[in-house]
Order: sequence, then structure tokens, then C-alpha cells
Amino acid sequence: MISSAGTGTECVAAVDVGGTTMKGGLVGRDGTVLYDERRPTPQSGVINAISRFVGDLARPRDGLVPRAVGLAVPGLVTPTHAVFSAAFGWRDVPVASFTDVDLPVALGHDVRSAGEAELAYGVGGDDVLFLPIGTGIAGAVVLSGGLNGGLYGGADGWAGQIGHIPVWPEGLACRCGQRGCLAAYSSGGAVAARCGSPSAADVVRRVAEGDPPAVQVWDEAVEALALALATYTLLLDPATVVIGGGVSLAGDTLLVPLRERLGARLAFRRPPDVVASGLGIRAGLLGAGLLGWRAVPAG
Ligand SMILES: [Zn+2]
Repeated sequence: MISSAGTGTECVAAVDVGGTTMKGGLVGRDGTVLYDERRPTPQSGVINAISRFVGDLARPRDGLVPRAVGLAVPGLVTPTHAVFSAAFGWRDVPVASFTDVDLPVALGHDVRSAGEAELAYGVGGDDVLFLPIGTGIAGAVVLSGGLNGGLYGGADGWAGQIGHIPVWPEGLACRCGQRGCLAAYSSGGAVAARCGSPSAADVVRRVAEGDPPAVQVWDEAVEALALALATYTLLLDPATVVIGGGVSLAGDTLLVPLRERLGARLAFRRPPDVVASGLGIRAGLLGAGLLGWRAVPAG
């Protein structure tokens, strides 16, 4: 089909809305990022900010012709509504509220979409937990055995909320309303806040320098992750745990002690492989791109 804008390279406008950054871009059918742009996620007015971002991306530019919009957001998401997000405090936002562009729009869950991108373009695998650790923590659960295989959403779309598994039941308050959640110890946001650092990357730098408060917070973050992953492993027996998101950039500072602690908590069985994402922080944008391509009309 020739677009109304004439000939040009077809693409989709994609936005992955994170707790601190919105990652947007134009993505080709093969997953090539043809244009990318980041904007800070505002503390208030986030829906309007998303709408402006999508509108700017959806304008044809440099021979690139957007055919649809893919929008990946956190929380509980259906194809028609962003039902709930602890990060943004929204409830039941219809997909039409996010954009007024005249293109098909696909709305999806940020982490499950990123997990699909990881399967399509990154590490791949059949029994995988894809676990991006950024401002918060959620997981995309990939199951090969039984049922239909593929990404598992659960009865109401809540599957994979590993960030709110209680690791220390009487522990720190979490923004979700519970106490002692994994995310309250191991998310990039929690690690930075507990150290009084501007970012998790700064904490990792301080850990490398042996700064005692940072070392202690990091140690608790790794321990909490090992506890949560031991529970996940015993329940679902993944072959691989793929750590993504900004915190995965810590590399061996995270992976080496995490593998050791997880192995120590699984006395009678081999632990799953724990690896860093093949896509890094691009997974979210590519996942939103996959959503967008699914919305492009056939023909
Ligand atoms: Zn929580």
C-alpha cells in the first residue's frame, strides 16, 4: 500500500514510557531503529507529554513514513486501556487519550513488549524470565511447556509482577502499598534513593570504589534479587534469566554476586543461567515497535 505521504521507507512510531525517561523512535519492520529520541517523563501531565511525543514522532520526516503507533506503558494494560500504574497513578486510561494522530495505535505492556523484542532480536530462548530492572522491576514470563507457550500474561494480565514479591515481609514500604517488595530493595530507583545518589549508575561507581554505604545497599539489592529469583526458579524452572534495563549496565558488579547467591539458595538443583540482555535499554523501544507493526493494516 502506498501511504498518503507518497513513497518513502515505511516505519512505525514507537514510544516506551518509563518511570524517568520516555524512549521514542521510528522503527523499521526488521527492528532497525531509524530515528530515536528521548524525553524525560514528567512528574505530572504524563498523558499529555506522551501525546505530544507521539504527535512529533508520527510526522513524516527524511523519507520515513510512519504507518502506525506502538505505545508501551507500565502497570496493568489491556489492548484498549492503561488500567493501572503505581508509577503514574492513572486508572482506566483509554488508548485514544494517549494520542490524537490519525494512525492505528497499539497499546501494550512495557515489559512484556520488551520481552518479545528480546526474544525476536536478543537473547531468545524457550523458558525465559526477562527481568528489566530500571526505575521499577517487572518481569516477562516466557514458557515453552504446555498451554500455548510464549509470553504468559496470567488470568488478568498481572503475571510477571516479580517486583512486588515480598522478600522481607516486614521490610521497607513500597510505592505499591505493600511492604518488603523486591522493588523496594533492588530497583534502580530504590538503590539510588537508599544511597542518596542521583542514579543507580552512580551507586555502581561507588560500589566499585568500595564506598561502605553503597556496598551495603548493593549487597541487600543483590540478596533480595537472589531470594526472588530462587522462588521464581523453584516454581517455573527457567533455563535463563535475562536481566535488562538500566541496572543491567552494572554488568559483572551485578551478575557475578547474583549468580553466586542464587546458586547458594538452590541447594538441590542447578540454577538457571543469569545473563545480561542482548538489547540492553533498546529492548523497550523495539518492543513498542513490535506493537506498532502489529497494528499496521495488511495490504
Ligand atoms: Zn511493591
